[in-house]
Amino acid sequence: MPTPMSQLDETGRETRTTLHHFIDGAFQPSLSGETFEDINPATGKVLADVALGTAEETSLAVAAAKKAFEDGPWPRMPLVERCRILRRIGDLILEKKDLLARAETLDTGKPITESLEGDITRSASNFHFFADYAPSLSEDCFTTGPDERHFAFREPLGVVGLITPWNLPLYLATWKIAPCLAMGNTCVLKPAEWTPYTATLLAEITAEAGLPPGVFNVVHGFGANGAGETLTRHPEVKAISFTGETSTGKAIMAAASGTLKKLSFELGGKGATLIFDDARLDEAIPTAVRAAYRNQGQICLAGSRLFVHRSCFDEVLARVVSQVQQIRVGDPLDPQTQMGALVSREHCEKVESYLAIGLAEGQCVIGGKRHAAYPDGYFIEPTVFANLPEHSRLHAEEIFGPVLPVIPFETEDEVIRMVNSTPYGLSASLWSQDVDRCHRVSKGIQAGMVWVNCWFARDLRTPFGGRKMSGIGREGGRYSLDFFSEMKTVSYRYHQ
Ligand code: ADP
Repeated sequence: MPTPMSQLDETGRETRTTLHHFIDGAFQPSLSGETFEDINPATGKVLADVALGTAEETSLAVAAAKKAFEDGPWPRMPLVERCRILRRIGDLILEKKDLLARAETLDTGKPITESLEGDITRSASNFHFFADYAPSLSEDCFTTGPDERHFAFREPLGVVGLITPWNLPLYLATWKIAPCLAMGNTCVLKPAEWTPYTATLLAEITAEAGLPPGVFNVVHGFGANGAGETLTRHPEVKAISFTGETSTGKAIMAAASGTLKKLSFELGGKGATLIFDDARLDEAIPTAVRAAYRNQGQICLAGSRLFVHRSCFDEVLARVVSQVQQIRVGDPLDPQTQMGALVSREHCEKVESYLAIGLAEGQCVIGGKRHAAYPDGYFIEPTVFANLPEHSRLHAEEIFGPVLPVIPFETEDEVIRMVNSTPYGLSASLWSQDVDRCHRVSKGIQAGMVWVNCWFARDLRTPFGGRKMSGIGREGGRYSLDFFSEMKTVSYRYHQ
């Protein structure tokens, strides 16, 4: 069977392809031969026929991962050896970055430059980072007497289920796979059904890098009542790392309770950008625009509400609108394009339903509709709303699209109250030159991450995650390695 990488047309033309599961080191169709369609959201055309995984294929993948964990070399390999293979996977991602970026763009509708410079580059970094970082972790030893020592060891969990979303498909999958494998686990990845392409390409890369069969498996299919749910209920799956919607997190938690799995959740967000009257507007405004519209607004960390101090509100709104006017919406494969298509028809319709609410309740300053130039794709004009009522759903709910409500405020207390008035608690970005104010406000905001005079500044060692309905646990650096391992204490008494 041709490999998925060889099927991806080098010229960049779209060719309908077939994507299989990757189980025990080999590509396999579903037992029933059934497939589902993967659509290119920029054209509405079928990009791939994807093997439809059910409970059967998922169980085969879990069995392969269990065999690799119990009998294979992976968990027994010295950590540095494992990390050498992980580093090689990162290298191969970089070698094949043009192909991977094209696949990501065809699958998601995101601009090709964002795929290349953002998603795929970061996917390689995820492997390189954890390959370097994991061996640097120390283990604890406590002493209770001259002859008594207590060692705390990290051990792998076994088979882990990784369930990933469609907005940053390879980026977020590799953010889980790399630390999961570094700790000696084996895994089954269930990529989002709307974006199965790059996970399949990654499977080919892992084999080329020398990852033993069964260590990394991919099962395609759906979530509820499908491959995803099977993973969450499977008794041999010891942990689930999930990124996606809050409602899905709740369903997974309920399903996983029967087998008491360890859970890590990165869920929705309703990020805020706060611009105070002493902010450096030349930096704050372009960053606020980037935070709202990058990846068509489909980022959990997006600055999807813009709070502006009343004294500079009119100026900031006018400058935001003038920047939004200049965003180049277009063919995602064109390197000049800055905003592409939303991921799917269903998602586009959901975002349109929020546009309808905004148009009824407030003032649409720019945008507000589907992009007329691309009727076959799922393009929405970058949109700004003002004068929405404080309790508008657009201020509280995660739209996950290029829609930005701009809201005035007078005092610190008022803006903190409004920022915290959503069920989410993931991120915020605040702009002011007053360091005491930055400290007060960042303390008051209920979020896992606050950026001061920046947005999306990342160090992969820092804890990444949210509070409230935005998640459970943290990813990044040792926080990821802690999740993907189990601590064991071994206490020794020595005899002289
Ligand atoms: P979105 O609606 O934004 O796609 P989801 O949270 O529904 O976000 O999807 C993220 C991932 O979770 C996808 O891989 C999806 O198939 C999976 N998923 C959805 N529902 C469930 C479920 N009940 N159990 C396990 N996985 C699920």
